[in-house]
Amino acid sequence: MKSLEKSDPKFLELNTRLTEIDDIESAAALLHWDQATYMPAGGAPARGRQLATLRQIAHEKFTDPVIGQLLEDLKPYEDSLSYDSNEASLIRIARLSYNRSVCVPASFMAELSQHRSASYEAWAKARPANDFTIVQPYLEKTLDLSRELAGFFPGYEHIADPLIDFSDADMKASTLRQIFSRLRQELVPIVEQITSQPAADDAFLHQHFPETKQLEFSRRIIERIGYDFKRGRQDKTLHPFMTRFSTGDVRITTRVYENDLGQGLFSSIHEAGHAMYEQGISREFEGTPLASGVSSGVHESQSRLWENLVGRSRGFWECFYPQLQGVFLRELGNISIHKFYRAINKVARSLIRTDADEVTYNLHVTIRFDLELAMLEGSLSVRDLPEAWNERYRSDLGLVPATDSEGVMQDVHWYSGVIGGMFQGYTLGNLMSAQFYETALNINPEIPVDIERGNFTSLHQWLQENIYQHGRKYTADELLERVTGSPLSVEPFIRYIRGKYSELYPM
Ligand code: ZN
Repeated sequence: MKSLEKSDPKFLELNTRLTEIDDIESAAALLHWDQATYMPAGGAPARGRQLATLRQIAHEKFTDPVIGQLLEDLKPYEDSLSYDSNEASLIRIARLSYNRSVCVPASFMAELSQHRSASYEAWAKARPANDFTIVQPYLEKTLDLSRELAGFFPGYEHIADPLIDFSDADMKASTLRQIFSRLRQELVPIVEQITSQPAADDAFLHQHFPETKQLEFSRRIIERIGYDFKRGRQDKTLHPFMTRFSTGDVRITTRVYENDLGQGLFSSIHEAGHAMYEQGISREFEGTPLASGVSSGVHESQSRLWENLVGRSRGFWECFYPQLQGVFLRELGNISIHKFYRAINKVARSLIRTDADEVTYNLHVTIRFDLELAMLEGSLSVRDLPEAWNERYRSDLGLVPATDSEGVMQDVHWYSGVIGGMFQGYTLGNLMSAQFYETALNINPEIPVDIERGNFTSLHQWLQENIYQHGRKYTADELLERVTGSPLSVEPFIRYIRGKYSELYPM
């Protein structure tokens, strides 16, 4: 960091230790990236062990009492600095993570980690076999362990709060309940109105689109919106993700379906949105805990902003649709931009969250959030979960899954993680994306015109200046207040959905 020369020697020592831990974590991330992209199958058993070893070393180094002592000794130094100075922020964020990490005994972490792997293996068998009874005992243990994990953080208002805190710090179950109930109240009638009209025709998106052409086109798009290939790369994988080893090396992965043009294209824009955030973090933070996104909600707001508010907008395709038609002349040559725009924004009641449109997406998340709370509270047993799942799909989306594979077993989260805190980040991301974007357009009304012309610099620079560069310096609440002048609100998202979809489907 810039002003290090004048710094307290203990601060320098803290910084050195944190950078060493970051090096180990980045090495683990690279091993994981390799595992998910190019590693031959034979490498799996050793790779699992290598990753576990590196992560354990990083955890031990971070929870070393020496770090706790340094953080305590640095309190007066931190107090002498301004809150948003880089040094004070680094000490503050390191202390928050340290306090959280030392609350959980290492033996519990090991047990949880082992159970997660076993549970994931069971899910990988149970889902194709459509047999919930295979995962049920694992999920029962996951629920016990999740409760135990929450118990290491006494004083909570709701048992889910400490679990939510891991991914969306400071967010509470009670606040989320209000948010989800408000969303449901607004979205259910909108879905009613839209689905009572003839559905958009998207059959032409499911013709044959060769993989190499799709990859080439996605690459052209994400490069144009600002993903820097000199500090990143894109490779193929099963479940797309973004990973960073340093601000100079932030990689994305994608998957392409030759019979579905939207999948690869929008998932590439989504992951590029995550990656531009990480590429934009101030280089002064390199190697420190400040060099990452704030929370799962804020991260998701950056991917969804590019994927949906920009990537599914009419103006975006005014610029790119003629190019897309040029690439797939036979398939799209006779399809008008209006028809294309309607198809990529088709709204339908569906069973699968990851395929859901912008309007129904948060209803899928609400169901999962409510079920997590009910299980943690003890009012819903794991045995009764499939039935409760189907009942909620019937009441909220008017559909009942024919199988548990496309019902309660569709998402991996509960089967490879914990129960509690797994899903709210998606909805928080959607809400924040609309809130940030509304502010960006108020301040720079020329952004939509620039987008139509294929110029993304004004938007990218605004995000860089207001969000990206700060890394983890501010909490999600602080960032929202600083950038938009308001706390988190559902209203910008509702305004956005109403505005966009009332044009597509007269209401
Ligand atoms: Zn994402």
